[in-house]
Amino acid sequence: MLAILHPDTQLDSPEYKHTLEFLKNLPGVTLRVHEIQGAQKKLTEIYLLGDTKSLSKEEIAALPAVERVIRISDDYRILGRHHDEQRQTGFTYNGVHFDQDNLHVFAGLCAVDNAEHVDIMMRALAEHGQVCTRMGAYKPRTNPYSFQGHGKACLPYVFENAGKHGIKVVAMEITHESHIEEIDTCLEKLGRPTGVMLQVGTRNTQNFELLKAIGRQREYPVLLKRGFGITLNESLNAAEYLASEGNANVIFCLRGMKTEAGLPHRNMVDFAHVPTVKRLTRMPVCVDPSHSVGNRDLAPDGISDVMHATAQGVIAGANMVLVDFHPKPEKALVDGPQALLMDELPYFLEDISLCHDTWRKREQIYERAKG
Ligand code: PEP
Ligand code: MN
Repeated sequence: MLAILHPDTQLDSPEYKHTLEFLKNLPGVTLRVHEIQGAQKKLTEIYLLGDTKSLSKEEIAALPAVERVIRISDDYRILGRHHDEQRQTGFTYNGVHFDQDNLHVFAGLCAVDNAEHVDIMMRALAEHGQVCTRMGAYKPRTNPYSFQGHGKACLPYVFENAGKHGIKVVAMEITHESHIEEIDTCLEKLGRPTGVMLQVGTRNTQNFELLKAIGRQREYPVLLKRGFGITLNESLNAAEYLASEGNANVIFCLRGMKTEAGLPHRNMVDFAHVPTVKRLTRMPVCVDPSHSVGNRDLAPDGISDVMHATAQGVIAGANMVLVDFHPKPEKALVDGPQALLMDELPYFLEDISLCHDTWRKREQIYERAKG
């Protein structure tokens, strides 16, 4: 069961204290308090876990700090929708708002190779009004002898450059919990010129100890990649691990499924699941066309498969696009064949914006149809 408190309830107010006292004394029930900072208001939710079947919804709804109560199912307790359309989706981080209605593009380097390429990338993004990027510092590689990423050595120039170009959020994969501290220490030392969204890669979707460690910190939002060889339900449960530890600022990323049936694409594009994830959960949904498609080959219409796949995700309502670009893909140390070229950036952004507008118009058609 979930008790949603009146917006902006103060935790030292008599209403809150009375409410908490009552709930604490319910036999066989444990409480978990979640605070969510929205764009305007702070929302507090109290999860009642354990033996809640016999509890009276009305009695709890009558407590002074409680606005309303919903019964929730066991699946995706925190991130799920539970037939309650009114619950807030999304969050604001470092001045950028993420929810199930808007859209942000995170174009950038799959792997940071040098400061010059970081600068070319960030400069181009700033010129096109972008405030987000992707920058891989810690790379999970199949082959132990492949380039593993520059790790913490590249963080200072990545973060400084981001700050210089007004980039507010950098999506960055971490493969070990110690990387959180490395990132945090570096940002703090530089005076927080930018923000970071911690990315959990597809190879770590079910690394539960990593998920718990990331979930325990609330400073950084999380981009969780779908596991490439597990069910959607298993990946959504992985997201719930983050929330259950305290961090519900999670974006779910579709990135294709590993199967030879997807060839000649690197993975089987799974963007038909964009609306499905939005229906089952309150998470904003990201698509990663680069790791799904894996090459930048053009179709006869002159549009690359990566751009077509992006369009499919965005026209279905995706809220974020994570995409590889590189100033010199032939020199890239990781995933050069799938990186888009810098001069493609404006067309790509225009295409995405067209698809997002079209999704909004599609919504209106069905809104009208409902009467
Ligand atoms: C990445 O985005 O750099 C990456 C390694 O993706 P994935 O975990 O989806 O393979
Ligand atoms: Mn990659």
